[in-house]
Amino acid sequence: MSELSEARRAVLRSVCETVVPSIPHEPDPTGLWGRSATDMGADQGIEQVFGQLPEEQFAGMMELLDGLDQQGFTRLSQPSREQVLRNVAMVGPEAAAGTSTLIGLTLFITYGAPDPETGQTPNWQAFAYPGPSAPPTAVEKTIEPITPDGDELTLEADVCIVGSGAGGGVIAGTLARAGLKVCVVEAAGYFNESDFNQLELPPTRTCTGAAVPTRPRTSTSRCTPARASAAER
Ligand SMILES: Cc1cc2nc3c(=O)[nH]c(=O)nc-3n(C[C@H](O)[C@H](O)[C@H](O)COP(=O)(O)OP(=O)(O)OC[C@H]3O[C@@H](n4cnc5c(N)ncnc54)[C@H](O)[C@@H]3O)c2cc1C
Repeated sequence: MSELSEARRAVLRSVCETVVPSIPHEPDPTGLWGRSATDMGADQGIEQVFGQLPEEQFAGMMELLDGLDQQGFTRLSQPSREQVLRNVAMVGPEAAAGTSTLIGLTLFITYGAPDPETGQTPNWQAFAYPGPSAPPTAVEKTIEPITPDGDELTLEADVCIVGSGAGGGVIAGTLARAGLKVCVVEAAGYFNESDFNQLELPPTRTCTGAAVPTRPRTSTSRCTPARASAAER
């Protein structure tokens, strides 16, 4: 997987700054308004994600960055960059998926990626979120998953539920408690309370195997709470 060229990096930084710009705002007691996505290392985090994409998706994202570059994205004003992102998303489903991925990752990393050293992000202070309140509790895993040895497996059940996420997991538990024989088909692993640490990004990797970045440490010059009383972004 090739590294990003400087031109692509500049476009990526510009996209991040478009999604979460630094906005002068008084007051800004926790620095939330002034802190942009790149202050939070979103561009570096997205580059980490790019590095783990399958070749075809990586190529698609590079095509998107090149397309934005050809439109002089980095030289445009904030409103023009916002408009360009909207326009590109309307070109077709792939362009829409690409822009939505860039925007989603920018927000996800800016507000969710903990600093590897402190386990916190400075943005949480503004939301009055203290971070994880306790380490995960050790809870025994009582279900014995069956891994099919081959392509076929016959099981007898009253209900078969595909996916043990928020929806399927609750339905499976409710039906099992009601006395039905429930079979849950799950593509990922078996996780319970002991696997979750009240953070969003690490479990995303644990449960899905997806490429999820940690927030690289960046200059905190604009992260320093500098201004007066409370404000919500
Ligand atoms: C980072 C993050 C934070 C969120 N925070 C909140 C929040 O604070 N509050 C809130 O209400 N919602 C939140 N959500 C949204 C919430 O997680 C989803 O709306 C919810 O999980 C959707 O439930 P679901 O059952 O449809 O899918 P999921 O919970 O995603 O479950 C789908 C399951 O199906 C499995 N699966 C997929 N395909 C297959 C297959 N082919 N075969 C077998 N198994 C398969 C998957 O492995 C997964 O376990 C958050 C989502 C994310 C990503």
